[in-house]
Formats: sequence, structure tokens, C-alpha cells
Amino acid sequence: MARPTIAIVGRPNVGKSTIFNRMVGDRQAIVEDKPGITRDRLYGTGEWFGKAFNVIDTGGIEIDGEDEILRAVKVQAELAIEEADVIVFMVDGKAGITPADEEIGQLLFRSGKPVVLGVNKIDNIKMQEEIYEFYSLGFGDPIPISGAHGIGMGDLLDAAMVHFPELEDEEYGEDFIKIAVIGRPNVGKSSLVNAILGEERVIVSNIAGTTRDAIDTPFEREGQKFVLIDTAGMRKRGKVYEATEKYSVMRAMKAIERADVALVLINGEEGIIEQDKHIAGYAHEAGKAAIFVVNKWDVVEKDDKTLHQFTQTIRDHFLFMSYAPVIFVSAKTKQRLHKLLPMVVEAADHHSMRVQTHLLNEVISDAVAITPPPTDKGRRMRLNYVTQVSVKPPTFVFFVNDPSLMHFSYERYLENKLRAAFDFTGTPMRLFTRKKS
Ligand code: GDP
Ligand code: GDP
Repeated sequence: MARPTIAIVGRPNVGKSTIFNRMVGDRQAIVEDKPGITRDRLYGTGEWFGKAFNVIDTGGIEIDGEDEILRAVKVQAELAIEEADVIVFMVDGKAGITPADEEIGQLLFRSGKPVVLGVNKIDNIKMQEEIYEFYSLGFGDPIPISGAHGIGMGDLLDAAMVHFPELEDEEYGEDFIKIAVIGRPNVGKSSLVNAILGEERVIVSNIAGTTRDAIDTPFEREGQKFVLIDTAGMRKRGKVYEATEKYSVMRAMKAIERADVALVLINGEEGIIEQDKHIAGYAHEAGKAAIFVVNKWDVVEKDDKTLHQFTQTIRDHFLFMSYAPVIFVSAKTKQRLHKLLPMVVEAADHHSMRVQTHLLNEVISDAVAITPPPTDKGRRMRLNYVTQVSVKPPTFVFFVNDPSLMHFSYERYLENKLRAAFDFTGTPMRLFTRKKS
């Protein structure tokens, strides 16, 4: 289900990243890979009164070869306008209104998107009156906040929440398998989508996704219903916008959130780069089933070892995703494409698979007998029983005498035993340890 998105826009130094961090807290967010950038996060999730939302810190968007402030800010605004349901326009209460604030204000105003105006650096009551001049920006009541002290965050989020769209019910029934096609620009996402759809019966073409940035295409094959969530079409809208590398990651994340299975496209011609790892990492962290699709295999020079070597390279680069199968295809020649949907069906089945409790406990007690749990200062963890608490992805809770005795390596051992006993190919799984003696 799509979450509402808040984008924080403003000129440099008003406190955007400070506010972003307040909203996101210590939840995981995108990790910046470039050195020398103070911002390490750009896109995260927050929660306010039980409502989850996405936050974008648009100040984190880097534009290659561009350092003019105003141009950078325009790109931010463009991004926010496209992506966000609500824009938080941040200004600096200590500095007052600057010409750059006015420019940004105009851009936002023209967008027609809901805007909430936050006046930051109002660190104490005495400074409250600094906010009045900001009425002239034309966005209604300015909300005084202090990112540094965490003051006013609730008021800001209350104001933003008013503009959250009503969450729609599940768009498609349980009988649909939702597929996100993700990967960096030019790996062949659009080509793959077209190649798949070219062969299938499209139920209704081109339904605009609720997030507006995806085109959903439901189709049917051999009685199984699918939806392809295609984010590639967006690209044509703005050149600068697309040029921001991070944007492709964000777009992928939104598609991933709504999907059951992620097709992680890899460019067979160019190999694996860091960005591929980020994109794949999101599918993993979101707990979605995943398949590595190595595309453009038609142009790769190969001998009898190439396929095996490439598979090994993928395994080396994506250590945490050893469950994801690999397929080598060509969207252009359609080589092996007929195998893809059956793999998707299998991954989706495993993603929603439930194992009976008594079978689970048999496997785990055998595992414990072969390799007993770790000890710490003479105390040994006692594993009492295990149960599967949910699916999508399969999630297991181990009840033990003392959860602090569970080690990462033992958890991995247990996961491997579960995978050896039951076929979870294609899906991540989650293991939790709880106290119960
Ligand atoms: P950004 O460039 O808009 O993301 O701004 P930052 O979040 O990096 O903040 C810019 C500067 O303003 C930093 O030195 C922050 O410590 C400071 N700052 C942020 N929020 C506040 C605040 O509420 N009060 C004060 N006094 N300083 C703040
Ligand atoms: P996207 O940005 O990921 O959507 O990538 P596109 O589908 O637009 O493809 C990028 C480029 O790669 C285009 O020029 C395609 O024609 C080309 N391309 C896509 N798939 C294949 C393939 O399997 N083989 C070859 N040789 N070229 C491909």
C-alpha cells in the first residue's frame, strides 16, 4: 500500500536535514555512498499517530556538475512537486525572508501542491514573533519550529497530515501477483516490460498507479493474474530530474513497496555497480521476493563458463540475497523470457508460504541436536519452540529462555536449516527471538 510522502524543500542551511532526521528518527534510510557529503540520508520513513509516511530531504539531491544554489533548489522543488503529497517549505526564522525563499515560494505556489510552511530556528518563546514576516510568502500560518531542540515537530506533522491522501484499499485482490521491475537507468526496464506484455493478454492497459509515478499494467497468463508496476515511463518528464541518480532509487522504492516480487535488472553488458546493490538492497529490506534478471545477454561475448562466472559475481556482490534466483535474458531477442513468469509465480508462492508449526519444530529440534545453541558465561540458550507468525515475507519467532544469548551466526544457521527443509527460493525470511521459558 502506498504511503503518503512529505518532501522538505528550502534553500541551503535552513535546517532541512535536521528536520528530516527528526522525522525519520533512527529508522533506516538511504545511505549516501559519496564521500565528503554531510548528508547521509535522503529518503526515509516516519510515523505520526500511527500513520506511516515517507520523507524526502530534497537538499540531499546532488546535481552533477551544477553547484549554483538556485538551480539546485529548482531541481529540489521539481522533485518535491512530482513526488510529494505534501511539501514542507522550510525557512530560517533567524535569517528572515531572503530572495531565494521568495523564488522557491513561487515555484511551490505554482505547483498547486499542498504546502506547509515551517519556520525553523525558533529556539525559544521570545523568538516567536520572528515568524510573522513569513505570512507574506502566502502559505498561511507559518509554523514555528526548532529542529535543533525538537520543538514544534508535532505541530508541523499535524499540519502536514491534514493533506495526506486517504489511503486506498488494496488496489488489486490477493489473486494478483504484483511485480516491480527495478534497476538503474538503461538496464532495460521498459524494454523488458514491453517484451513481457507483448506476449500476454493485457486485462486493462495503463492504469495510472495511485502514486502517479508508476504505470500499472494488469495482465493474465495461463489463468494467473499479474500486475506489472512500471516506473520507467516517468523518465521522459524532466531531464534534470532524471539526472539525479538518487531519484531512480526512490522511484524503485515506491514500486517495491507495492510489489510482491521485485525483478532486479542487471546490465549483463556492463556488470554490477554500487547503485545496483542499493536498489537490490531495498527489495531485500522491504522483505519482498526477488529475482536477479541479467538483461542484454544477447550482446555479451560468452563461452561455456560465462554464465556460471556471472552468477558467481552476483553471489559475491549480493551476499545477503543468496535466496534470489538468477536468470539471463534478452529483452531484445526475448531469449529465455518465457521462463521468467514461472519463476515469478514460484517466488511469490514461497513468499506467502506457511509452514505447519509441528514441521517447523521438528526441523529446528533436529538442527539444535546437531549444533547446540551458543553459550555465554556458562549459560546456554534454550530454544523452546518456533512458530511462523506471518507471510510476505515468511516470519518466524523463536521462543528462548534468554534472547540475549542468540547470536547472528546461530540465527543464520537456523535460517539455513529452514531453507534446507522447505523451499523458500526467491524470498527473504525474517527471524525474531523472544523470551519465553
Ligand atoms: P539544510 O542545509 O537546510 O539541510 O540545513 P541543516 O539541517 O544542515 O542545518 C543548517 C545549520 O542550521 C546547521 O548548523 C544546524 O545545526 C543549524 N540548525 C538546524 N536547525 C536549527 C534550529 O532549530 N536552531 C538553530 N539555532 N540552528 C539550527
Ligand atoms: P530502462 O532505462 O531501464 O527502462 O532501459 P530501456 O528499456 O529504455 O533500455 C535502454 C537501452 O538498452 C535501449 O536502447 C534498449 O534498446 C536497450 N536494450 C534493452 N534491453 C536490451 C537487450 O536485451 N539487449 C540489447 N542489446 N539492448 C537492450
